[in-house]
Amino acid sequence: MQPFHFPIVIIDEDFRSENTSGLGIRALAQAIEKEGMEILGVTSYGDLSQFAQQQSRAGAFILSIDDEEFTPGPEQDPAIVKLRNFIAEIRFRNAEIPIYLYGETRTSQHITNDILRELHGFIHMFEDTPEFVARHIIRETRSYLDSLAPPFFRALLGYAADGSYSWHCPGHSGGVAFLKSPIGQMFHQFFGENMLRADVCNAVEELGQLLDHTGPVAASERNAARIFNADHCYFVTNGTSTSNKMVWHHTVAPNDVVLVDRNCHKSILHAIIMTGAIPVFLTPTRNHFGIIGPIPESEFTRESIERKIRAHPLLEGVDPTTIKPRILTVTQSTYDGVLYNAETITRMMDGWVEAVHFDEAWLPHAAFHRFYSKYHAMGKGRERAAESLVYATQSTHKLLAGLSQASQVLVQDSKGRKLDRSLFNEAYLMHSSTSPQYAIIASCDVAAAMMEPPGGTALVEESLKESLAFRRAMRKVDKEFGKDWWFKVWGPDKLATDGIGKPEDWTLKTNDKWHGFGGLATGFNMLDPIKCTLITPGLDVSGKFAKTGIPAAIVTKFLAEHGVVVEKTGLYSFFILFTIGITKGRWNTLLTALQQFKDDYDRNASMWRILPEFCQAHPQYEKMGLKDLCQTMHEAYAKGDIARLTTEMYLSDLQPAMKPSDAFAHIARRTTERVDIDALEGRITTSLLTPYPPGIPLLIPGERFNKKIVDYLRFAREFNQHFPGFHTDVHGLVEENLGNGTSRYYVDCVA
Ligand SMILES: *Cc1c(COP(=O)(O)O)cnc(C)c1O
Repeated sequence: MQPFHFPIVIIDEDFRSENTSGLGIRALAQAIEKEGMEILGVTSYGDLSQFAQQQSRAGAFILSIDDEEFTPGPEQDPAIVKLRNFIAEIRFRNAEIPIYLYGETRTSQHITNDILRELHGFIHMFEDTPEFVARHIIRETRSYLDSLAPPFFRALLGYAADGSYSWHCPGHSGGVAFLKSPIGQMFHQFFGENMLRADVCNAVEELGQLLDHTGPVAASERNAARIFNADHCYFVTNGTSTSNKMVWHHTVAPNDVVLVDRNCHKSILHAIIMTGAIPVFLTPTRNHFGIIGPIPESEFTRESIERKIRAHPLLEGVDPTTIKPRILTVTQSTYDGVLYNAETITRMMDGWVEAVHFDEAWLPHAAFHRFYSKYHAMGKGRERAAESLVYATQSTHKLLAGLSQASQVLVQDSKGRKLDRSLFNEAYLMHSSTSPQYAIIASCDVAAAMMEPPGGTALVEESLKESLAFRRAMRKVDKEFGKDWWFKVWGPDKLATDGIGKPEDWTLKTNDKWHGFGGLATGFNMLDPIKCTLITPGLDVSGKFAKTGIPAAIVTKFLAEHGVVVEKTGLYSFFILFTIGITKGRWNTLLTALQQFKDDYDRNASMWRILPEFCQAHPQYEKMGLKDLCQTMHEAYAKGDIARLTTEMYLSDLQPAMKPSDAFAHIARRTTERVDIDALEGRITTSLLTPYPPGIPLLIPGERFNKKIVDYLRFAREFNQHFPGFHTDVHGLVEENLGNGTSRYYVDCVA
């Protein structure tokens, strides 16, 4: 293995003292260093939980304990209490790291059992030679470190270290090619030797094959399947966009009826087009903040779906009772963090729908914390479906520690049926490159291993804790401002005063005012606390515009110039995430920037002063004040009644005129026509039309434009003309620049 740095951490208040205890511990430290292991010596714990974070960089701990300290008896002795708390903090995150106590022999008799149980040994001061003790500690430390690497990453480390010369691709030969040119040298220095040494091709047998799931790759996929409570796991190196297509191509054939969340990711719509399926859409609720709510439970009932099939223009004359839909795909965690009770959905579909598919791109963390109980696809000890297979597709790169594009398909067999792995692999191959990126595979492997409890549970708990602390801090600021305005964080009214509170606090109850989704079934949905939607003033839950308002686009532009980049921006809301990469109090920066914004807004500070870079690119804002700009844009939104318009447009009854794949085929045959948006009503789109925000597909190939959508596009055109730099982006719209700041907009339609 490479020379990794995992020092043995010694905590002893005498570490630098000239007394016998100091001499003893330093002799031990020297003996350990002589054997080639690093030592990190400190004299106090400092902040316990902060210091316990060191477990991720340490090879072992040696904690010193003094006898004189036991005055009130070992149970309440402050030194023992501190020791116990520290060990608990370590074990909360790490069950395996060796911990030793160091002290006088008579001290050991005072250590209580709950502490002894967690130790790898008690080192009796002056009883053995330091060399002997050092060798023992080093052996345990090495064995602990050797156990860390999961199968594929382990094999890759071995391969990169053994220095064999390759005659195969990639052509850069372990990075050597870069060294032959100056810019190549820069690239090499930036990414480093290891990244390039580990960039190998699939001709390397000892690493196994991703495409047929053999060797160390297969061992890693099995390991991840176990960690995520699945029967099968497939690592995917092209994102969940690809994972979704694999699941679909394995399950859906031309003209099959499929059940799809209307607010699904565009990769699902691509899968509909590719497979030639006939989609029946389930419609989510929305509130007037533009936040997408859940699909109500009633939409999942067989009666409701059969009613939709009966009314479906492409299924005329079909008896709905004879149809067995091939798949149901639900976005598990909507874009604003609303979750479904997966057990309930699976039970409702079981035996009727062939496959139940949860698109958990934003939810790979849920399996590791009790907080999410049944609100994710595969929980420990959850009962299997009787007949239907359950799939979950997860972007390890979005909330866990995967590199970009790291993703996985998880499958749970039913009682009656197992996944046919060889048939599934046909679909897997159809969507995989034959040259997978090994660093991404390794990150899938490591991201899974990191989530192994207790470590993974601790990581999720930290995200939850930070998110709640942020929410509380926002409320505190709000309270201090009193009647004056402040940003709100969308979520239940009741918030635990400390810690993470109870999961029940986060379930969506029927007609709760805060969510604005109306009558929801009990126990069917919850909000994931780590996903925070911040709401800016200007709009209330019912969609009414206030006299003044602060469009979110201006706030996020301001934040970006202050080094805070948010995940997603809506009309009067924006979205931030507390991933497992969050550090304690990182949100303080956001809080300060928001306070700065409020200050600048209240003073109507000049735009050129507060957003200099932006004003350089768009001089028309230079002379405005921040408040003026907010108000001008707010009035433009209000005039277009844009909140209501987008809600109604998304909820409008969209009728397919032809199958999505048939409409899309017009592109290949060049039988499309570029239609000006003013002439769109009634036309059939061949493109997928997706407005940003919210980035949810609005019109699908084969569907007709209605008046609401045309109104929206006209609004977007006018808005873009008045507010350059705050462009409303609509994918699928073709823009022709006419000069003088105006543009014409078209959509490609069936000719
Ligand atoms: C991001 C996302 C995907 C696609 O995942 P990538 O890993 O980016 O390809 C699929 N579904 C949903 C719901 C997503 O948000």
